[in-house]
Amino acid sequence: MQTSCIMGQVVQISKRDTKVGQKDRQQTAVVAEGLTFSYGSVKALDGLDLEVPEGVSFGLLGPNGAGKTTLIRILVGLLSPQGGEARVLGEQPSPSVAAQIGYMPQLPALYGELSVAENIEFFAQVYGMKGRAERMERVEEMVRLVDLWERRKELAMNLSGGMRQRVSLACALVHGPRLLFLDEPTVGLDPQLRAAFWDYFHELTHQGITLVISSHTMDDAARCGRLAFLRMGRTIAQGTPQELRAATGDPDVDLEAAFLHFARQETGGDVL
Ligand code: ATP
Repeated sequence: MQTSCIMGQVVQISKRDTKVGQKDRQQTAVVAEGLTFSYGSVKALDGLDLEVPEGVSFGLLGPNGAGKTTLIRILVGLLSPQGGEARVLGEQPSPSVAAQIGYMPQLPALYGELSVAENIEFFAQVYGMKGRAERMERVEEMVRLVDLWERRKELAMNLSGGMRQRVSLACALVHGPRLLFLDEPTVGLDPQLRAAFWDYFHELTHQGITLVISSHTMDDAARCGRLAFLRMGRTIAQGTPQELRAATGDPDVDLEAAFLHFARQETGGDVL
């Protein structure tokens, strides 16, 4: 049994209650039911449930080792779950869905010997953008979007960490995905760049694009439309930031206190 906020109501849900029917699956961007995954003897996901509606910025919040990266790697099709089921845009994660998905990994996966523009073009090709003219137009749009026009010919290995993250975001967006997975996209960004990333994330959700963003900062959490609190490979609560705060019984608490409330509820007091 776990506590969750669904459609504005805080409810105690059992495994059976979380089963999502076919109709609901079509209205949601991501559904996970009872996902399990272990690396040898290390349990990373332990029956994780998740429901991400379309067109929201959805935060995966949890401490180090909660299972956020493992979950994202399953949802983008890089790992196969060992138990449970995941559906992304109505289908099991697969190469056919991958074309509609963007993925920004925790560590920017750029080619140091390629320039900013060449890295973005490379990802455009990987995602199947065949026409050169259209591809180059899109690359230019992305370079300008992340404000690196002046540095477009710079090799990726010579960029600062924040600039590399900007290029990584451009690579994830270049093919115009409907659904974007961002694994700790704001780590290491200065406050100005963090705010700029969030402005852009909100712009994307206004365009109907769904964002799944992992983080362990409550600053990111407060900016998300909906959240799942993860702990030890399980979802301990889901809802809007307001719903999660209100569910503690004190709507004025911050999200960190709300997380601790649900963690204590899950363990019967102990949060470590
Ligand atoms: P962080 O916030 O620190 O990035 P996370 O929430 O993303 O953490 P995961 O990276 O999914 O968590 O890790 C979940 C658990 O799985 C942790 O106990 C971690 O040590 C373990 N783990 C992750 N990757 C591997 C791996 N390749 N081999 C062995 N164990 C792993």
